[in-house]
Amino acid sequence: MQPVEAHNPDISLASELTEQQKLQARQQCFYGCVFCGSPVFRYYQSPKSPSAVLICALHAKQLHGTFLSPSTLLERISQPFNQQRVNKPGFSFDPERRVQVSVGMNTVYADFLQSGGEQYCIWVNGQELFTLHSESGWLCFSFMLSDNTGETVIRVDKGELQLSPEHWEYSYEVNTLKIRDQQRKLQFTAQLCNDRVLLTKGQFIDNFGDGFVVEGNRVIAMLDGQKGGHYMHRIEPGRYKGGWALFNKIRHPDLVMPGNFAFVCAAKRKSSGTER
Ligand SMILES: [Zn+2]
Repeated sequence: MQPVEAHNPDISLASELTEQQKLQARQQCFYGCVFCGSPVFRYYQSPKSPSAVLICALHAKQLHGTFLSPSTLLERISQPFNQQRVNKPGFSFDPERRVQVSVGMNTVYADFLQSGGEQYCIWVNGQELFTLHSESGWLCFSFMLSDNTGETVIRVDKGELQLSPEHWEYSYEVNTLKIRDQQRKLQFTAQLCNDRVLLTKGQFIDNFGDGFVVEGNRVIAMLDGQKGGHYMHRIEPGRYKGGWALFNKIRHPDLVMPGNFAFVCAAKRKSSGTER
């Protein structure tokens, strides 16, 4: 057993960071937790570091306990985990190379411009529920996970964990992010790295029960809380950049869907009756 150093009071959540400060912290920590490289993290302030430090929920817990010592933290601040992953799958990516994006067993490819950009992987009635961002040659992720009722339980914005139920567990091992609830039941699984994004578990449903449930190979479209939709039309994957869109035209007649999704599920406006 390593000698246990005192509880580490030096680290605290960084509140009120500007977007610029967050960007700087992401770049300095190579877009992941300094201990494990997890692309889902919170920003922390340490007197030993001029900019904020990215630390995942698991390692923040270990720091506040006695599993990780202040000296280990210092080491990691100067040598973040992802720094060593530059030549291995990490989050820096070659703009010449496409990123494979799979949701369930369906696959599309994301091409990003050198200047950066976004790819909406899961889009439901105007809400971006799973998005890839390219930022100065690095990949980061935003997503919103919901429960059965469509209530948002987890919100991640460019990697920053902004909302999470207490006591949910996060782990990132061998490129795979897993999120478990308080009963240790798996709620989210995705392989996240620079050439591959494979989502195999998660619920992405809005307050009206519209959205997608991803369960292993299956992607189940939900409309008004019911499985399936009036339409599910599937286009040859690979030819399109976009991901999975669900568009309830009955509820959102004026909404315009941003272009080019490979998989679209829509509730069509009725030709008479309810149509305005
Ligand atoms: Zn970590």
